Amino acid sequence: MFRIRRIFDDGVPVNRNAIVQVQQILRDQFPLTNRNDIEKLPEQLRNPMKYRFRSVLFVADDLKRNVKGFALLLHAPDLEFCYLDYISAAKNMSGGGIGGALYERVRDETSMLKSKGLFFECLPDDPQLCKDPAVLKQNISRLKFYEKYGARPLIHTKYETPVRPFQDNPPYLVVDTLGKNRKFRRDEIRGIVRAILERKYPDVCNKEYIQMVVDSITDNPVQFRPFRYITEEKIEPAKKSVPPDLKIALVCNERHVLHHVRERGYVESPVRVENILTALRKTQLFTEFPAHLFPEEHITAVHDPGFVRYLTAVSSLIPDDQSVYPYVFPICNNARPPKELPMRAGCYCIYHFRPINKSAYTAARHAVNCALTAASKILEGNYLAYALVRPPGHHAEYKVFGGFCYFNSTAIAAHYLSEQGRVAILDIDYHHGNGQQNIFYSRSDVLTVSIHGHPSFAYPFFSGFAEEVGEVSGRGYNVNIPLPEIISTEQYIKALEKAIKRIRRFNPQFLVVALGFDTSRGDPTGTWSIDGKTFEKIGDMIGELPYSTLVVQEGGYNTRTLGSDAVHFFTGLWKGSFL
Ligand SMILES: [Zn+2]
Repeated sequence: MFRIRRIFDDGVPVNRNAIVQVQQILRDQFPLTNRNDIEKLPEQLRNPMKYRFRSVLFVADDLKRNVKGFALLLHAPDLEFCYLDYISAAKNMSGGGIGGALYERVRDETSMLKSKGLFFECLPDDPQLCKDPAVLKQNISRLKFYEKYGARPLIHTKYETPVRPFQDNPPYLVVDTLGKNRKFRRDEIRGIVRAILERKYPDVCNKEYIQMVVDSITDNPVQFRPFRYITEEKIEPAKKSVPPDLKIALVCNERHVLHHVRERGYVESPVRVENILTALRKTQLFTEFPAHLFPEEHITAVHDPGFVRYLTAVSSLIPDDQSVYPYVFPICNNARPPKELPMRAGCYCIYHFRPINKSAYTAARHAVNCALTAASKILEGNYLAYALVRPPGHHAEYKVFGGFCYFNSTAIAAHYLSEQGRVAILDIDYHHGNGQQNIFYSRSDVLTVSIHGHPSFAYPFFSGFAEEVGEVSGRGYNVNIPLPEIISTEQYIKALEKAIKRIRRFNPQFLVVALGFDTSRGDPTGTWSIDGKTFEKIGDMIGELPYSTLVVQEGGYNTRTLGSDAVHFFTGLWKGSFL
């Protein structure tokens, strides 16, 4: 049993370990490969365009994370082609369908990237070019395998001219048109061949050699070798569907429905999650996972234990059908809190419109489990994960709740990820993410950035000013970008560009997005009017950041647009991340 998955970087231990195993396979199976080329693999993945190719690594691993094979694909977006650099099973691991499964995954990726074709080198099946009969036999079986997919060598060119005279076994350039039987113009192939030789072999091929090979391509359109091994052309087209390893891990808080405050004006209602979930299920972009239980210590890692104890205790005391509204706020004498638990609510609350009841606590506790489960999916190697939860959490501070929020799921998940590497939190809810600001205010390993309505007119009114920049060692690691009551799309995109620039400079291992759709047109709690197209653009811009990304649902209350806003945002995020 094995599964194929794409590895984006060496940010989490499970991926670091896979890359080390891939490097070992390279040493075992390709002993002539330059050591430096093997060592630079992690950097190649972290800086995708550094070598003028975007490197894409796939591994086939089993449940124990033993890598049984890998493929390294190089994508040239400028010339719209892909080059398969390596495809190999681990030592003593050939057969079992690993090579075939990897090749099909690579083809699907090439097709998804809208590349014109998949190019790679294959050693010759011509006895004139390969003198060793055993090697020749192996070469024949490889070319036969690729021919099943329609992939055949380019002919009437001097590509297979040995770089050094009398060198045996010079490779053909093979092209897979992904089942489309596409014709290539001479100039297209000349450009692609030049790029392969210049970018892949800068130390091996000199200028004269490259020019000689490029000039040798004269057919127009260029010719591929006629089928030699396959009699009938039954070529499988590459798949168009989203490969399973590129789906977004979705963890939804099913217990959110318990929490329903049926009062006029209480817009934080169960239908919000239902709308989003129904719309997202119609896309192909998600795989759903159930939430796991996580111990309370994850919550007390970012919240005051007294506050957590209080919420737990008071919600267990309140009868099922009743709510406690904080109405006494002992801000002057917090040292002597009221004895009665319901009365004490004001010690931990910033706003009197937030009730505490049994269901609120249960739903909030479950939202935390969802956010942590989604974060753990990131640590297992998923590149994108989404916790679709309510109640939201980003207004909950170290010691106080407020604004529909009880526990700060975003901050709890961010802290959990921060144990593995630096985290940037980008809050794009309409309201300031005062919770994360407060919780991480003196930390430099978690950058908090929030784009929101200016506190002079928008909740929470007391925080979100640009001059709040962090304190002590966290100074410079809190960024607030407050915006006016009425803004244009351009103004918003500009603010997002500024936020993204700061995040790139911070260069975290993980990105956590506190996602609010209350920036959308017609939202009862906001004043802006971001439309679907812009949500897609926002998703795309965030997706282009090269970090594993966890999205946690915060606000958004216009139930007529929530579903389509979510589809737009995640379509953009997915494209930005993978295309
Ligand atoms: Zn909000």
